[in-house]
Amino acid sequence: MTLLRPLCFALAAATAWPLAAQSVTGDELHALVRGIEGRSPDGRRAFIVQQLDRMGVPYEGMAFDTVRVRGERADTIRGENIIVRFGAGPRRVVVGAHLDAVPRSPGANDNGAGVAVLLGLARQLRDRAWHVSVELCFFDQEERGLVGSLIYVARDTARARHLAMINLDVVGTGEEVYVGPVDGQDDAFVLPHVRAAAESLGYPYFEEAVYPGSDYGAFARAGLENISIAVVPAGDAKRMTDMIEGMQSGRLTAPPDTASPAYPIALKVMHTPRDSSALVTPSALTMAFELTRAVLLRLDDSQRP
Ligand SMILES: [Zn+2]
Repeated sequence: MTLLRPLCFALAAATAWPLAAQSVTGDELHALVRGIEGRSPDGRRAFIVQQLDRMGVPYEGMAFDTVRVRGERADTIRGENIIVRFGAGPRRVVVGAHLDAVPRSPGANDNGAGVAVLLGLARQLRDRAWHVSVELCFFDQEERGLVGSLIYVARDTARARHLAMINLDVVGTGEEVYVGPVDGQDDAFVLPHVRAAAESLGYPYFEEAVYPGSDYGAFARAGLENISIAVVPAGDAKRMTDMIEGMQSGRLTAPPDTASPAYPIALKVMHTPRDSSALVTPSALTMAFELTRAVLLRLDDSQRP
């Protein structure tokens, strides 16, 4: 079996999923996380494609095969981004979630949860009369160094039309929204929409200048508007930021001990065999879904002619 199953532009009859206009529940999102967790890299892509086929949502595959040289070592990194496009407006909004997981982790919260939210958005928003163009991007090989999203940005022919990129990573556990990296350079347009959406939903909201790495970084490096959204356990936004800031500034020479109260709860699970759907909750998934949907609709409204 080849690593890269060729993906074609698929148009299948929508039979299995309910009407697109119906709202997506936290339980449905959780079932999607259970569906993708623990699968092989091929299996994770196949799961996404299967769900899109069931919804009758067209998609495109963006396969890549790139060699990375580090010292005397050359690694071939293969993968395939999966892209869903809605709308034909002049400006383009990207919502991204990485589909890959680190080896030996089921990859439920990181990042089956983000994938589930993206699938939910595909189902609910596909039939809207958009004022923008929307690209829902399931990025591959984020864990190997943002490879899929960097390839996407390198091949992007719509850069001049780019309005914003919203990244979803680690959105399945907890009760506070953690947004960043806020720096005023490449988020001045999108951030007010994220703040307003979180406020309208009444979610506990934290935004920070330092932030864990993820696919938003590929857009940031290209100078493209971007922001990242996570949902984390109470207190984790501050713990995570303190830890990253401490390491970057040299105040900390190592991360806090995992048993320390300063150690982020989310990191005890991420990239470990414990990252299973048992620790992912429908309520966190619902927060991520509703917030992202609200931001997307606000961005769309902003481009109303
Ligand atoms: Zn991740």
